[in-house]
Amino acid sequence: MAERANMQGRSQQAFDRLYRFHGGLVLAGHRELTVTAPIAPAGIPPLLVLPLLQHIGEPAKVLVKPGDTVLAGELLARQVGTVSAAVHASTSGTVVAVEPRPVPHPSGLPAECIVIETDGRDRWLETAGGLADYRATEPQLLLERIRDAGIVGLGGAGFPTRVKLTSGKQAIDTLIINGAECEPYITCDQRLMLERAAEVIEGVRILQHIVQPRVCTIAVEDSMPAAETALRDALEALQETGISVTRVPTIYPTGGERQLIKVLTGCEVPSQGLPADIGIICQNVGTAAAVYRAVCQGKPLVSRIVTVTGAGILTPRNLEVRIGTPLSHLVSTCGGYTQDVERLLIGGPMMGYTVNSDAVPVIKTTNCILAVTREEMPAPPPAMACIRCGKCTEVCPADLLPQQLYWYAQSGNYDAAQDYDLFDCIECGCCAHVCPSHIPLVQHYRHAKTEIWAQEKQRKKSDLARQRHEARLARLERIKQERTEKMARKKQVLTQGAGGPDPKQAAIQAALERVKRKKEVAGISPGNTDNLTPEQRQQIAAADQRRVAQKNGDRQAD
Ligand code: SF4
Ligand code: SF4
Repeated sequence: MAERANMQGRSQQAFDRLYRFHGGLVLAGHRELTVTAPIAPAGIPPLLVLPLLQHIGEPAKVLVKPGDTVLAGELLARQVGTVSAAVHASTSGTVVAVEPRPVPHPSGLPAECIVIETDGRDRWLETAGGLADYRATEPQLLLERIRDAGIVGLGGAGFPTRVKLTSGKQAIDTLIINGAECEPYITCDQRLMLERAAEVIEGVRILQHIVQPRVCTIAVEDSMPAAETALRDALEALQETGISVTRVPTIYPTGGERQLIKVLTGCEVPSQGLPADIGIICQNVGTAAAVYRAVCQGKPLVSRIVTVTGAGILTPRNLEVRIGTPLSHLVSTCGGYTQDVERLLIGGPMMGYTVNSDAVPVIKTTNCILAVTREEMPAPPPAMACIRCGKCTEVCPADLLPQQLYWYAQSGNYDAAQDYDLFDCIECGCCAHVCPSHIPLVQHYRHAKTEIWAQEKQRKKSDLARQRHEARLARLERIKQERTEKMARKKQVLTQGAGGPDPKQAAIQAALERVKRKKEVAGISPGNTDNLTPEQRQQIAAADQRRVAQKNGDRQAD
């Protein structure tokens, strides 16, 4: 982290010094196929297929139903939760289905999509338009615009841009704009920088306004002199001195986020951490241009540039493509397949994956369609046993031990694979590329990651079920306890009632007490005749005599 410490107080010239990442490969570029092909509109296909999940995170929530007519730019599905992205209509038409369809994914599994029958008129939704001066706007409002426009990283990962811009635990001091193409064959970013440099720079300025970095640079590969010149000219024309352009070596995978950060700053992004954790944010040039369109033109992300290339395509080109356009439409726009086409890949030759059908659509992260011939990319020979040659370790740009990862991944020992930092693997394919045993190493890593995610999902589900069960037991126990206490209180009341004084007896007793007190007040008490008049005494004596005579009579009668 010594380099990191040195970054405090960096000037724009600080990027003059570059660093090296471990490993990497110098590959044949194959960019000559499309590097001179200007960006052309791909046109509007009869059907658009828009997956709800085109990004990292939760799928968007559908807001439309079959039969609805929609306009270009209209919101079709909104983001759910924090890590998610909205989906908009790429052109006008009618929603004809919301159903699972084949989508571009290595698994080949279908996923929920919104299908639009286009009307060919490309009518746009009227919006409030762009901001006249984003500098006078609070960064929070700009972030909301970026979120509402459904912008995700266009470099390939598809992380929602708003989330990335706000994910730092500390202030951001370095903003890196990634203009280094990810892989051979791909030229979409190069053409964007060459043809739309001012848009890219305006987007970068907006990002600067949001994150307020100390320094900012746009990284271009040393194999892109024309793009570099275009950027420098645009910066000069805009009199922009807060953004520099840095030329980086064309070593695969320099375009990888962590590798580019290492090259430019010498800093290592922590294992399983984010660049923002060390005060750095990295955004793709295409993402910067999308931010510009969202903020300054009020347009959501409904199109992107895609390189359609390979010896299996008749006329390789760079196309501006509406999101949701089926690959078949792009292939026919480029003149169709050649006779000897063998395979169709999404992405480049190193990190791309084969698709079985060209009916799958372009999504926000699709940067390249590669149709290859057998000669161009022969099928790999059968895999053999690992001979522990260590070549994979030498080239791993993430500084991992690929053979150990392979060993644990293929044996299902996922804990050990994670101990060897499986999740730091960027799936660049360098290890598999040099493996003399032709082991499809990346496939093993992908499979292991998928299994671990599935297990993690299952574990979370089980934890949730256990928590619910425990909460239910606690609730039942509480109800039982409350019932017991209620019963006890009732019983106590009844018991006190049975053992207490008889109300009738109490009333008689009280009456006797009252009579006694009256007599006492009047001075009459049994045996006390001192206060009586002579007549009263005679009356009492006569009464006593009568009682005695009656008693005697009673005894004689007995
Ligand atoms: S390059 Fe292939 S054979 Fe050599 S150690 Fe790595 S996995 Fe094994
Ligand atoms: S695929 Fe993974 S393990 Fe192989 S070289 Fe790339 S980062 Fe390293």
